[in-house]
Amino acid sequence: MNVFAFTRIKLTVFYVTAIMVVSTMFSYAIYKGVSQNIEQSFTRAENRLRTAPGFAQQLLRQASNEAENRQELHQFFLEELQESKKKVLLHLLMTNAFILLASSVASYALAGRTLKPIEDVLSDQKRFIADASHELRTPLTSLKTAIEVSLRDKKIDQRAKKVLESNLEDVDALKELIDSLLQLASQENKTIIKQLIDVHEVMGKVLKIVKPLADEKELKITSKLQHQQVLASETGLQQLFTILLDNAIKYSNCKGKINVLIIPGKRTVTIKIADTGIGINKKYLQHIFDRFYRIDSSRTCSQKPGFGLGLSVAKQIVANHNGTITVESEIGKGTTFTTTLPL
Ligand code: ADP
Repeated sequence: MNVFAFTRIKLTVFYVTAIMVVSTMFSYAIYKGVSQNIEQSFTRAENRLRTAPGFAQQLLRQASNEAENRQELHQFFLEELQESKKKVLLHLLMTNAFILLASSVASYALAGRTLKPIEDVLSDQKRFIADASHELRTPLTSLKTAIEVSLRDKKIDQRAKKVLESNLEDVDALKELIDSLLQLASQENKTIIKQLIDVHEVMGKVLKIVKPLADEKELKITSKLQHQQVLASETGLQQLFTILLDNAIKYSNCKGKINVLIIPGKRTVTIKIADTGIGINKKYLQHIFDRFYRIDSSRTCSQKPGFGLGLSVAKQIVANHNGTITVESEIGKGTTFTTTLPL
């Protein structure tokens, strides 16, 4: 469920609760007032029958005959009184049920109208980021090619070469940022095509892609992958596993271990990616899925490349599949990301 649909329901519940609180209070006051009036009317009628001469006495006698004695007459009035109160209560309950129904429909429509401008602004912003990222990509690619061509030129001196190399690094970093922004934008696009795919196969592909990176750091990747079909976006899952494995490699010290598990369940499949890397301090765990959030590199003793967008893309991909992603970590021991996807 997207965040706006969820907020709309929350807002509806809030409006309906407020309306129902007021309505119940009014109903209670009406019930009390009407009950009191009915009670007073019944007491007055009973007293008149007992005391009034002539026709009333005759009525009393008749009533007494039917009810056999005055006590039974009183009982008769009491039952009538209860019956009238019940009718009032029933009437009020029905009115409240109608108010509940009408206010739910009206509140849902109103919540939608309240959120619409915010949703529009947000989607405009997202579109702007996606368009801007897309527009920046082409000149950046040309720039990268131009620098690479210049670097191949044997006539350039060492100083110029150093400057160009540093420029190339910056261009690569910018390209990576733009790619992450585009990934995020594409995952936020609601029209994601899902098909039946085997998680095992997708993970196998990603493991092959990241292997050279792991080999560079002499990391040992072990895996226990079981076959499981899920209805999912193949590119989405590929991006998700790449982000998690990239991080496991990036935040591991040389010669560490990474373990990948695919555990099929009855209704879900669980994917665990555990590393024996630097770990994350508990106080930062709640923020790592936020956009542009990076744990201060000084605490991790070395500067790792990245923009703090990977895990927010991962979270978005998992949300698109109605799944969950959780993390457990201990400083110096390692981190485990557990993703659960419905079949
Ligand atoms: P990036 O890796 O580009 O900084 P992410 O969104 O992927 O951004 O991750 C956010 C932060 O979470 C990282 O900066 C890092 O501090 C922490 N983190 C993510 N994965 C791991 C991991 N496997 N081990 C340790 N820290 C991690």
